[in-house]
Amino acid sequence: MQLYNSLSHKKEEFIPREAGKVSMYTCGPTVYHYAHIGNLRSYIMEDILEKYLRFTGLDVKRVMNITDVGHLTSDGDTGDDKMLKGAKREHKTVMEIAKFYTDAFFADCAKLNIKTPDVVVPATTYIDEFIRVISSLMEKGYAYEAGGNIYFDTSKLEKYYVFNDFKEEDLAVGVREGVEEDGNKRNKADFVLWFTKSKFDDQELKWDSPWGVGYPGWHIECSCISMKNLGEYLDIHCGGIDNAFPHHTNEIAQSEAYLGHKWCNYWFHVLHLNTNSGKMSKSSGEFLTVSLLEEKGYDPIIYRFFCLQSHYRKSLVFSWDNLDNAKVTFEKLIAKIAPLTADKTGDIDKAEYGRLMQSFHEALGNDINTAMGITVIYDVLKSATNNATKLALISEFDKVLGLDLIKKAEKKASSAESDDSDIPAEVMELVEQRKAARKEKNFALADEIRDKITALGYEIKETREGTQITKK
Ligand code: AMP
Ligand code: ZN
Repeated sequence: MQLYNSLSHKKEEFIPREAGKVSMYTCGPTVYHYAHIGNLRSYIMEDILEKYLRFTGLDVKRVMNITDVGHLTSDGDTGDDKMLKGAKREHKTVMEIAKFYTDAFFADCAKLNIKTPDVVVPATTYIDEFIRVISSLMEKGYAYEAGGNIYFDTSKLEKYYVFNDFKEEDLAVGVREGVEEDGNKRNKADFVLWFTKSKFDDQELKWDSPWGVGYPGWHIECSCISMKNLGEYLDIHCGGIDNAFPHHTNEIAQSEAYLGHKWCNYWFHVLHLNTNSGKMSKSSGEFLTVSLLEEKGYDPIIYRFFCLQSHYRKSLVFSWDNLDNAKVTFEKLIAKIAPLTADKTGDIDKAEYGRLMQSFHEALGNDINTAMGITVIYDVLKSATNNATKLALISEFDKVLGLDLIKKAEKKASSAESDDSDIPAEVMELVEQRKAARKEKNFALADEIRDKITALGYEIKETREGTQITKK
């Protein structure tokens, strides 16, 4: 499988460190507000990556943090803790806010068929671990105390800026929001590992530490949660592109300083979802949620399909028109699959199955090309092979794509059939008997039943859209 690696700035063959196993880490949400559909674009594409790795037979262990402390409004280590901001906004405690928005996040993920990672760790449950690693960084000379805070000293590294192939503006959005300088830093790029002194004394959650009562910086949580659960070596680290700098850059700095060797081999970054007025962000307060999509009558899976139509390494513009186009395309696709579900009989055509499965692997195995993966579904539909083979392929592909294709197609087929409210019960009963006969390949009986239906003044037709019954 080819995967673009932000570290080498090119597509590479993905080779896990341990044969057959993949360790994967994902930066989780900061739970001070609902996840917006931009955040969820990242989680959808990461979910596809995980599912595709599993699809190829790899045993994936995926870990995710929940940021419930230490993520400040400015990436320059200044501003308010976002959690505190959320608590003030809603007149609740930080922990109440964290619980509410963590649950809301997983509810949204469920609606989008995003699998919950194997291990999920709220940062506030790992304070001792953060203190242990920060203490070690102090001992090794990679960290210093200034003005009461503990900072990582980036001048101690041979190379700090590891992700330098991203466009400045892609990185800048996450970083520049209200950046203020912190005079305690020895170097501009240094970052806080542990806060004790800050301008916001009302920080609700504080813990004892060797450096005084305080709380951890945001970056240390991901390094520690990953290393504790996945060990000293990590195969893949994921996140949205705004996380590449400074968050992931800082994660690499502190993890490798602590470990004394290279930490993570592949970095997977999802480009942003933008609106016509720019990047969708939680802090701007103007963002779209899954609930809003539902209120407007969209099935959340339409949004997943919309995301899959584009490559994860291209920014994606959201507009209602674009979503409507995705909805129309998706519904047409389901309507094409629906008639296949009426008759699933037949043996799997091994040659055609193999050919089309190969095409799917070529698409997804080429840096997760989901749009190409969807095109392969159309190739399946166009194929001259039998329904059983087509359905088997689509159902396999959907293990990765997560679009509920078969379930929705079956629903569509049965609703097309149940449009026959005017048809007498006696005729409907015969229709069911005929279906059963056809399923059992008892065509003589099926014909006999059709004659009975005709005698009652109705005509039955098996069409691509399903069974149609009309009054003669
Ligand atoms: P946060 O909850 O702000 O910590 O972000 C959660 C995830 O969403 C991170 O991986 C971010 O990089 C990602 N993210 C934030 N904004 C966007 C966006 N507009 N499009 C795609 N991903 C985003
Ligand atoms: Zn992280």
